[in-house]
Amino acid sequence: MLSCRIHAKEDLRVEADAIPEAGPGEVLLKLGAGGICGSDLHYYFEGRNGSFVVREPLVPGHEASGVIAAVGAGVTRVKPGDKVAVSPSHACGACDYCREGREQLCRKMRFLGSASVFPHTQGMFREYFVMGERQCYPVAGDVSLGELAFAEPLAVALHAVNRGGDLLGKSVLVTGAGTIGCLTVMAARLAGAASITVTDVLERPLAQARSVGADATLLAGSGPALPDAAFDVAFEVSGNFNALKSAVAAAKRGAVIVQVGTLPHEPLPFVVNDIMAKELDLRGAFRWGIEFDWAVRYLASRRVDVRPLLSGQFPLTDAVAAFHAAADKRRSTKVQVVAV
Ligand SMILES: [Zn+2]
Ligand SMILES: [Zn+2]
Repeated sequence: MLSCRIHAKEDLRVEADAIPEAGPGEVLLKLGAGGICGSDLHYYFEGRNGSFVVREPLVPGHEASGVIAAVGAGVTRVKPGDKVAVSPSHACGACDYCREGREQLCRKMRFLGSASVFPHTQGMFREYFVMGERQCYPVAGDVSLGELAFAEPLAVALHAVNRGGDLLGKSVLVTGAGTIGCLTVMAARLAGAASITVTDVLERPLAQARSVGADATLLAGSGPALPDAAFDVAFEVSGNFNALKSAVAAAKRGAVIVQVGTLPHEPLPFVVNDIMAKELDLRGAFRWGIEFDWAVRYLASRRVDVRPLLSGQFPLTDAVAAFHAAADKRRSTKVQVVAV
């Protein structure tokens, strides 16, 4: 079998490995599709993701679906042949945050495909991998493995919308029209937003956002400015500081701003008085908890139809080409690798 490993900045190798075996309570999965996410791109193009540095070969990939190839002793949740979405979140289940129902804040989190801990938590860009059965969410029906691999980013968007509070009847701003921005548009529509405006610095992502339900789009930087004090809830998804500043200016008094994207890891000059004088609620949204379960259901029923967001699939052997395609926002929204 083949595994994709990032050894260092721009050093990604597709390597031969032995197929692992599932122990008690575990399953062996064959990769269905694996979505390339911003963090995977940071690891590949920079050798780091913010403060998480690649210090040993890292298998990237935390957005994946698969087919159960074999099950270990005692497994009851899935059987061979099942099509599943795979949750990359291994929260401890025992700490104060987990017990409060906020597993994304777990004190002992292991998240697949991440260099946040050492040894690194290896990800899912490999032909076969072993998981605990509880990580697997079996799905019936004709939903494709490519669609199922959207469960993780859709969960991010659903969690962001949850952090934004009640959206029914509200005017919503989303800054950033990549995969998470577009999924946030879809999640905000589900939640009853009355109007959704999206900004991005490129035209193609804005067209993509319109295709999944944005009511208005605006080219940031070169186009007309956002209206002042126009939005009840803003989602800053781009991870761009100028976008956050524009969201603060465009927020109504009493608005909620949710920071979803990762900003550069450095101190930023910020006019906090706007937050004070407008009584803004500035909130973070980090990964997800129960929203992963919801995401799988929305995908399985196609109440959220993510097919327009899938720009391309590459065999694992062409992972380098896949990473370059994923990084080119003029061409791609979501790019996936698939087993050969
Ligand atoms: Zn992701
Ligand atoms: Zn915990």
